[in-house]
Amino acid sequence: GYHKVLEENRKLYNQVQDLKGNIRVYCRVRPFLGGQPSHYSSVGNVEEGSISILTPPKYGKEGKKTFNFNRAFGPSATQAEVFSDMQPLIRSVLDGYNVCIFAYGQTGSGKTHTMSGPNELTDETIGVNYRALGDLFLLSEQRKDTICYDINVQMLEIYNEQVRDLLTTDEIRNSSHNGINVPDANLVPVSSTSDVINLMNLGHKNRAVGSTAMNDRSSRSHSCLTVHVQGRYLTSGSTIRGSMHLVDLAGSERADKSEATGDRLKEAQHINKSLSALGDVIASLASKNAHVPYRNSKLTQLLQDSLGGQAKTLMFVHISPEPEALGETLSTLKFAERVSTIELGAARVNKDTNSTASNSDVKELKEQIASLKG
Ligand code: ADP
Ligand code: MG
Repeated sequence: GYHKVLEENRKLYNQVQDLKGNIRVYCRVRPFLGGQPSHYSSVGNVEEGSISILTPPKYGKEGKKTFNFNRAFGPSATQAEVFSDMQPLIRSVLDGYNVCIFAYGQTGSGKTHTMSGPNELTDETIGVNYRALGDLFLLSEQRKDTICYDINVQMLEIYNEQVRDLLTTDEIRNSSHNGINVPDANLVPVSSTSDVINLMNLGHKNRAVGSTAMNDRSSRSHSCLTVHVQGRYLTSGSTIRGSMHLVDLAGSERADKSEATGDRLKEAQHINKSLSALGDVIASLASKNAHVPYRNSKLTQLLQDSLGGQAKTLMFVHISPEPEALGETLSTLKFAERVSTIELGAARVNKDTNSTASNSDVKELKEQIASLKG
């Protein structure tokens, strides 16, 4: 009875998701900060699926330019509203899908606010990361009579094409490994929201190492919270695996050509390279090219298993309302347009029907397939 209905709903939902394509783009407009008058906003109407930008003559014809998204959130949208739209995506992780959620935008546009929340966290202000894990715990508890789930998290930072493990209590090391597993990165079991809060605090503390007030490294590195979920059906013993990457990307702003020199220039080049590599990978998946250029950046290598026909991607683009930010806002929206016109093939569940197949078997098979393809 009840389970059958749930199962039917799930199928229907996945069909709808597949029809819509596996890449969804949401846009969020940051409110004005510190009581600036909002009538200067370069953002006009925000509808459910579109945003209009008011452009002065400097940008060609003066007027209104409208951009479409799967969803758009105006400056007054709450954290809860933003998250409620993503809940089905979170649920699909427990059904064995790989999910990737990105926060894209210039520094100060609200990426960290969406993903983690403001400095002062309350039940209302917590961001997507905490809410997503909270939902995973809740749903896995609801399914405990059928499936037993293990949930582990990893937290990595990519800075200047170097991957660092943020969940280590030892001295922070650079990981020289490629690929999704980063074998020596800590994979920590979690079972409650407070576990997650403690880990995120450790991650944030580790991330601050190497930055100074003048040199806020967090805006120039990507941070990636990865959740690995493994479920075992109690009756059949077969297993199901899903993963979720929650990525707070480096600021997308162009470096000021006249000012960027030395370390700044190097950072800017690395960011530029990895953000364009991300765009290229998605574009290449869309046009079904045989060769997808995952290898062009650490970011795309790390996320390789979660970007493509088998996975679901949500790109959250953030824009600032200030007229001074208009140039960056337009280039952010251009990036969004480029990644949103694509439709990937149907997503697929990672399910081992043979319950004895271990991760290493699967890995070996994958390598064999890769070498055959190559
Ligand atoms: P980014 O991570 O893109 O650099 P932040 O998330 O740090 O930007 O946001 C910059 C500032 O704006 C922070 O003080 C943040 O708390 C605030 N802010 C961002 N988005 C919102 C929002 N939707 N509502 C209220 N304050 C926000
Ligand atoms: Mg940030």
